[in-house]
Amino acid sequence: MRHVFTLILFACAIVIAQAASAADSTPLALHAGQSIFTPSENLHYWVDPNPDSRETDAEAALRGGEFKPVVRWPPTFGFAEGVHWFALDLRNVDHADDSWLYVVEYALLDHLDLHLRYSDGREQRFVSGDREAYVARSVDHRHFNFALKLPRGQSVRTLLRVQTESSVQVPIAIYSDHAFLETHQRSQLGLGVYYGVLIGLLLYNLLIFLSVRDRSYPYYIGYVALFGLALACLNGISYQILWPTWPLWDDAVLLLAIGGSLTCMVLFTYSFLELPTRQPKLARLFRAAAWLLAAITLASPFITYRHAILLETASVFLLAFLMIGAGFSAWRHGYRPAYYFLLAWSFMVAGIVVYACVSFGLLPKNFLTEYGIQFGSSIEMILLSLGLAYRFKLLREQNLQLQLEATERLEIRVAERTNELNRAMGELRTANRRLHEFSLRDGLTGVHNRRYLDETLAHAVAQSRERKAPIALLMLDIDHFKRINDTHGHLVGDDCLRAVADVLRRHVREGDDFVARYGGEEFVVLLPGATRDDAARRAEILRSEVAALRIADHGETISLTISLGLSAMDGNDLHSGPDKLIRAADAALYRAKREGRNRLVVAD
Ligand code: GH3
Ligand code: MG
Ligand code: MG
Repeated sequence: MRHVFTLILFACAIVIAQAASAADSTPLALHAGQSIFTPSENLHYWVDPNPDSRETDAEAALRGGEFKPVVRWPPTFGFAEGVHWFALDLRNVDHADDSWLYVVEYALLDHLDLHLRYSDGREQRFVSGDREAYVARSVDHRHFNFALKLPRGQSVRTLLRVQTESSVQVPIAIYSDHAFLETHQRSQLGLGVYYGVLIGLLLYNLLIFLSVRDRSYPYYIGYVALFGLALACLNGISYQILWPTWPLWDDAVLLLAIGGSLTCMVLFTYSFLELPTRQPKLARLFRAAAWLLAAITLASPFITYRHAILLETASVFLLAFLMIGAGFSAWRHGYRPAYYFLLAWSFMVAGIVVYACVSFGLLPKNFLTEYGIQFGSSIEMILLSLGLAYRFKLLREQNLQLQLEATERLEIRVAERTNELNRAMGELRTANRRLHEFSLRDGLTGVHNRRYLDETLAHAVAQSRERKAPIALLMLDIDHFKRINDTHGHLVGDDCLRAVADVLRRHVREGDDFVARYGGEEFVVLLPGATRDDAARRAEILRSEVAALRIADHGETISLTISLGLSAMDGNDLHSGPDKLIRAADAALYRAKREGRNRLVVAD
């Protein structure tokens, strides 16, 4: 991340540096009562464009007054060419400690050579840098450090040679051994907490991803992991802990981690803000950006470090605008998870701004401000994780709502269909009943037909026998009906049939009693519960009613008579069945015909 500010700081640094004039080198006085010293006013530098610049060149330049004081702290030169030399005189005025550390607190410098010339004539040389073996450090620490033996009253002239492909930042600090240990403990605790938070977020979101399988999670996890790795490279932790024996590995990993985390962040934004469905135009832009970044990332180890890191740093700026723009746009469209997204990013930006202010000296350097990026990014990651959870909750609610609506719609349709079906079934039942009734009626006269008689008679007889109740059956036939047909025509014959049927229907209430057309001009009347005498009485009424009929035919009137045969059965008659009842009535009817018609004959 330091590279980001480096770009901003670079231009200012050069302008200010050139304005500064050469100065004589007052030694940095190490006084009792203070244990950490920043040589901001005592450090002098000289840039030799020759990449093979040697110590003799630097000493000549120093004698010739070519070294200039560093005017801005920390000394930052951007991606500058050449070899940078730093001269610093130290004098232990009255400090009790005689063990000191010369520390360079920027972990990406490739080659550092430090030459010490003590006032007592001792000389010492150190080599360090992230392209040099890790074991060359005096103390096993993520920052480059060199041990000085500087008892009270002694002084030392230091000359540091810096050659690097990374940006040239040389924040030098002088610590007493004790002070270094104390500071180191605090910063290590801070970094431990930071990486603890990151690992916690990683595991937590990984577990959630395993159960919900939302696409935003892997991008988030990739972003957090790679961002953490990039920061570890910048802090010097990765070289210290992960691969101390592979000095060339760090640069490549840093490039891959920065590029990878940016790619993941773009994809995360794409998926989290649901760009493909909500903002298709932006989505296309993000897809292109993701492809481009992935290509840059994969190519980065194969192009020079300087170009690769510049390309990635430029991408950070473009992407920051792109992502915050997308967040605002989603927010304006009322997409609620975008609040989390924007809040998260504002913390990240705030962290970076605070860190930059510390670098410019606009804010005091303390635990909170120095680790601004760590604070900002961890809050950002926590907020994004909350955003993911919130987004998942929204998705689940939407799904439930859809399901509920679908179920309701389905239930309504099922109810409608059931009603329709019930209605249809009811109509069908009515139609069937009518059809059945119809099939049991005679079409001409409307009384029951022969089929009804056949179906009902046996049952009626059996029931009478069961109840030991009497039952009577009348069979009747219109007299000389053929003659009426022959004289007046069949249509008039039909009128006569209907008139007789009406008489029968009027006198025989349908229920247990019924009238049926037996065939032709013959009818049967069944009277369950009627004794022989009852039935005879009612038969007489029928006969006289029919005889009283007058049917009109074109001014003529026709009169009719009927002959009747009656058979009856009392409750104790165990032998009579329906057939016997019919046969007996039939026989009685024939007798009535023979005996002169228009009369009733009762079977024996
Ligand atoms: P009897 O007094 O001996 O009963 O003499 P009849 O003429 O009534 O008896 P017959 O059996 O000779 O004639 C019955 C007639 O009834 C014959 C047939 O044309 C007539 N007939 C039968 N069914 C119908 C009908 O549905 N409509 C009409 N118009 N005539 C019918
Ligand atoms: Mg007849
Ligand atoms: Mg007949």
